[in-house]
Amino acid sequence: MRFCCVGAGFSGAVIARRLAEAGHQVLVIDERPHLGGNCHTERDAATGIMLHRYGPHIFHTADREVWDFVNRFARMMPYVNRVKAISGGRVYSLPVNLHTINQFFGATMNPREAQDFIAGQARRDIAEPANFEEQALSMVGDALYRAFFRGYTRKQWGLDPTELPASILKRLPLRFNYDDNYFNHPFQGMPEEGYTAIVAGILNAPGIELRLGCRFEEIGEDLAHVFYTGPLDRYFAYRLGRLGYRTLDFEEIRAEGDYLGTAVMNYCDEDVPFTRISEHKHFAPWEAGRFEGTVCFREYSRLAGAGDIPYYPIRLVGEKKMLADYVALARQARGVSFVGRLGTYRYLDMDVTIREAMDAATMTLARLREGAPPPPFFLDPLGQEGKPAVPAQSSPALAPAGPRRDAPAPVPGVSRGAGQRLKEAANR
Ligand code: FAD
Ligand code: UDP
Repeated sequence: MRFCCVGAGFSGAVIARRLAEAGHQVLVIDERPHLGGNCHTERDAATGIMLHRYGPHIFHTADREVWDFVNRFARMMPYVNRVKAISGGRVYSLPVNLHTINQFFGATMNPREAQDFIAGQARRDIAEPANFEEQALSMVGDALYRAFFRGYTRKQWGLDPTELPASILKRLPLRFNYDDNYFNHPFQGMPEEGYTAIVAGILNAPGIELRLGCRFEEIGEDLAHVFYTGPLDRYFAYRLGRLGYRTLDFEEIRAEGDYLGTAVMNYCDEDVPFTRISEHKHFAPWEAGRFEGTVCFREYSRLAGAGDIPYYPIRLVGEKKMLADYVALARQARGVSFVGRLGTYRYLDMDVTIREAMDAATMTLARLREGAPPPPFFLDPLGQEGKPAVPAQSSPALAPAGPRRDAPAPVPGVSRGAGQRLKEAANR
């Protein structure tokens, strides 16, 4: 009997590869007609531009082994994520750095002056920020908070920042120099031929059979063990209810020439209904000048309904309660392990996804050698929020490193109680 990986994203592909390299037969299925899961990229038929179909993806990591692994399957091209933001009719540089501060306050401060100035803006009476808003006020003060974080966050999460965990903001850098790199990790890049080509390379090994357009629910075959990277609640036919997610709507823009002049423009004002626009040819700067046309996407965030693609998991107290009940069900199930962002209901960056899949395969092979089945989970989904594998802070963040994402629940009619639920979570 062979193994089965449900899902041909990074999670399923890495586990399949590692098991196949150890001599096992693996069936990999995905209900989508393509590889790569949410990291799927493909060339646009009309322009030839590489499109990130489920939102822009930039690879960044501090995990040397993961970086070496992706470099086996792709030529990683130099790419640094530099984000611009529009606020109050002006364009700024993000994350907040010395340029942003000087632009915003019409000043020419040096690092020391800016640090002193921002310390004067920050709310010193907030010793222990209890929510997103307090976190921002205690670090950058009211003016920068209102300009860059308040409106954007209300649009992104559908909640007031006072109802959101401080942890959401903690991972954004705050710099008192002109470094406008959005990330702090030492390795960053973009695959020359996109992410789907990486996943295809990972799956190209003897012992792996790939079946696209195939739902797990339709498989009749007897399997040695299933590695399920689909939604945990879906595996159990949503019998305890649906775990909450934010979803995104992408509105396509086609134009000639250069539309934004950069890869990502955030729109921080609340009266602009979308959060950001991404122009995908700028994710491949080494292809500059090759395309006359351009393709961009406006991003709108909203609560996911039953038929929507789940993007950002919601992990407030209510959602964690339901998650705990599903985890209990999963621990009783036989012949299945839950992995990946959907299987463990956590936001995971690509590097963390790959690291966790590598570790799951290693643990599986060790268990098989002992004659034991793989466990239902390779880590506790309730205790883990999906932190970067190796947090690397080379510059001050808006706060000490915390969970990668601890997303809020924008459930209509429930959101008024979210602040209380967050306090309960904090007190647990
Ligand atoms: P997925 O990629 O979701 O793969 C799961 C697959 O399982 C899917 O293809 C699905 O079709 C399939 N499936 C599910 N259920 C079934 C079933 N029952 N039968 C058959 N098939 C099934 N990470 C970064 O490192 N950098 C970034 O810049 C970045 N940007 C992001 C932007 C957005 C908007 C979002 C939401 C995420 C971003 N990420 C980024 C995170 C990245 O998308 C994830 O790390 C990655 O997708 C996780 O891979 P996975 O294999 O666990 O899940
Ligand atoms: N954020 C913001 N303004 C911005 C960018 C980010 O307020 O211009 C907030 C927002 O709440 C977001 C969080 O910071 O969820 C983390 O930012 P990141 O860019 O990592 O979030 P993503 O867009 O990937 O959700």
